[in-house]
Amino acid sequence: MSPENLFAGGYLDRRADARLKSDWLEEARADPDTVYVVMRGSTALMRGSGAQLSLALLSAADERVRSVADPDRMLLLGWYREHRCLLLELPEDLPQAVAEEEAFAELRPLASQLPAQDAGLLAYARALSLWRSTHRFCSRCGHTLHAERAGHARACRACGYQSFPRIDPAIIVLVQNGDRALLGRQAGWPQGRYSTIAGFVEPGESLEDAVRREVAEETGIAVNAIRYHSSQPWPFPASLMLGFRAQGVWAPPQLHDAELEDARWFTRDQIRNGAVLLPPPESISRRLIHTWLGEA
Ligand SMILES: [Zn+2]
Repeated sequence: MSPENLFAGGYLDRRADARLKSDWLEEARADPDTVYVVMRGSTALMRGSGAQLSLALLSAADERVRSVADPDRMLLLGWYREHRCLLLELPEDLPQAVAEEEAFAELRPLASQLPAQDAGLLAYARALSLWRSTHRFCSRCGHTLHAERAGHARACRACGYQSFPRIDPAIIVLVQNGDRALLGRQAGWPQGRYSTIAGFVEPGESLEDAVRREVAEETGIAVNAIRYHSSQPWPFPASLMLGFRAQGVWAPPQLHDAELEDARWFTRDQIRNGAVLLPPPESISRRLIHTWLGEA
């Protein structure tokens, strides 16, 4: 298993200072090495077809890049493999103007088969694109928001309100007690699927508070010895998954809210012997379970 969570890693040189230059877009368009990630709605332009899709990075010569005049549809992502890299957002109502061997595709089903760096770049582009599409108007006075900082902020010229890309922190925790781990399942999941306990952090909570509350709400189990493990950007649509380990006080789980349909303690042998359909390999929950399994 990869040492990094999928979508994480320093694959991109973000160079936040470059966003502050007033001529960033002219400079980008004049640079023959600039590459463009193209999105339409929540989908990204890919090369290939069927199951064989790979990231399409367009050059400035591509007609689709040349046809977009609205600077609000361009965002500076950073430098990717030494190339200045922009996000180009096509209007959602644009007809399916894709060449042969190209397709617009959702990231999530593709994520684990793409090179990790491409998956990370697309996750970043998707998060920015979704934020932009849901923050077109000022939430204070209703006027149109305009892009600033090369697309990384949106500002209202009427009242001065500024909006920045939104990230929703969520905790996810592997609770253990000796040779057992506490896993739960939601009603809509595939048959047999169990995963670690997770939930959004609420205003006024520390991450540790959120771990204690979520585990108690969903399973009735008290936890202590909470420690941080790793994190994963999860832009479906805007989560940052914050992974933890914790010790659970032994007791039969009791479902206190409607989040889970079932929660149980599973031994390592039960999990190794296939008693559980584990979460997908690209998820941090799988990595938390995998790490714990490897400790004994
Ligand atoms: Zn306003």
